[in-house]
Amino acid sequence: MTTSKNVSGKRSAVSGAVPATQPAGPAHRLPLTAHAVGTGTDIFAAMDSMGHEQVLLSHDPSCGYFGIIAIHDTTLGPALGGTRFWQYATTDEAITDALRLARGMTYKSAVAGINLGGGKSVIIGDNKRADREALFRAHGRFIETLGGRYITAEDIGTSPADMEYIKLETDHVAGLLGLSGDPSPVTAYGVYVGMKAAARVRWGSDSLAARTVAVQGAGKVAYYLMQHLHAEGAGIIVTDIDGAKAQRAVQEFGAQPVAPETIYDQTADIYAPCALGATINDDTLPRLKVQIIAGGANNQLAEDRHGDELEKRGIVYAPDYVINGGGVINVYGELHRWPVERAKKKAGEIYDTLLRIFKISKQDGIPTYRAADRLAEQRVAAVAGLDRMWMG
Ligand code: NAD
Repeated sequence: MTTSKNVSGKRSAVSGAVPATQPAGPAHRLPLTAHAVGTGTDIFAAMDSMGHEQVLLSHDPSCGYFGIIAIHDTTLGPALGGTRFWQYATTDEAITDALRLARGMTYKSAVAGINLGGGKSVIIGDNKRADREALFRAHGRFIETLGGRYITAEDIGTSPADMEYIKLETDHVAGLLGLSGDPSPVTAYGVYVGMKAAARVRWGSDSLAARTVAVQGAGKVAYYLMQHLHAEGAGIIVTDIDGAKAQRAVQEFGAQPVAPETIYDQTADIYAPCALGATINDDTLPRLKVQIIAGGANNQLAEDRHGDELEKRGIVYAPDYVINGGGVINVYGELHRWPVERAKKKAGEIYDTLLRIFKISKQDGIPTYRAADRLAEQRVAAVAGLDRMWMG
């Protein structure tokens, strides 16, 4: 990664955007024509413009495995990023997704202050297929050939059980059963402290006691986040397409439930997106009455210009890949056998990281999402500079 490049060209660069295409029917053995025809991405040109180090393709005909590993930048450490299992329409689409997601991981780990680079892998195929052992062992063997330059974990379409199959072939896998476990409590803690940092810059105090937070989604991250908010005395407005989950928040945290589509219209101090990506868009932006956006979801901005617009409207935006960094911190903790308390303490540093980002944003006159990219690039450049001294 060079300091002149950043992820800002594509907001969805950081981790989670689901491709528009849905998985087609079962296709254990994909006919080559199913995904060999693309628009002709020039892979080297893409690597050059985004700063990738390495892209690898692997095929195992014995089990119909088609895998791609993209390594963006290993200045800080081995490239870590999950395995996405998805029925991409074309090979080009799969490569583009792997490149984009790998780059996002470099930035996410860089601002999280951990010693990991950015990488990602994808497996092309029907992620509902039942016979998974050979497929994921093939993936594990592919990862093993890299000798630790790339470490994988779960992502869309894969599960902890799939990671166990990978583990049979390589040690370069995290998110295993019985180890670090569900990252959501650590992620939620990072979101909570990040929200407090945003409150401090917006209101001069990081207390959330008299504030109202509109929480979108009442899933794993949102649940633990609401626990913190409730304990501090914040008011909570909640929505989830799964009524039972929203109801649990009503009962446990006294949250006020609202219909999913109305969450953007609520009178609240903070909007906490904890469900989907791209919820800050042309439709929702004019409806939001909040002063802060701080939540756990990936890829919250539909496009960069929505981040610019938030800045213009004076809404403090805590960049998604910074505030939800607790997830990758948790994985890092597993690799280093940290007790959960240590991972939580590290996630607590998201408070200071966000204060630095808000400061860069103010000093340099740039939106917060760009300031986050700048901070990530600064850390990578600073660590790269250390290499100049011969260690003997
Ligand atoms: P989850 O599946 O447990 O929760 C998501 C919730 O959102 C579900 O309850 C779902 O019903 C609800 N939902 C979906 N569409 C909705 C809609 N239109 N309106 C309202 N609710 C809707 O997932 P999670 O692990 O809590 O993750 C939440 C978000 O945080 C995701 O974007 C994820 O990528 C991101 N994230 C999670 C972690 C983690 O540690 N789990 C780490 C980093 C980022």
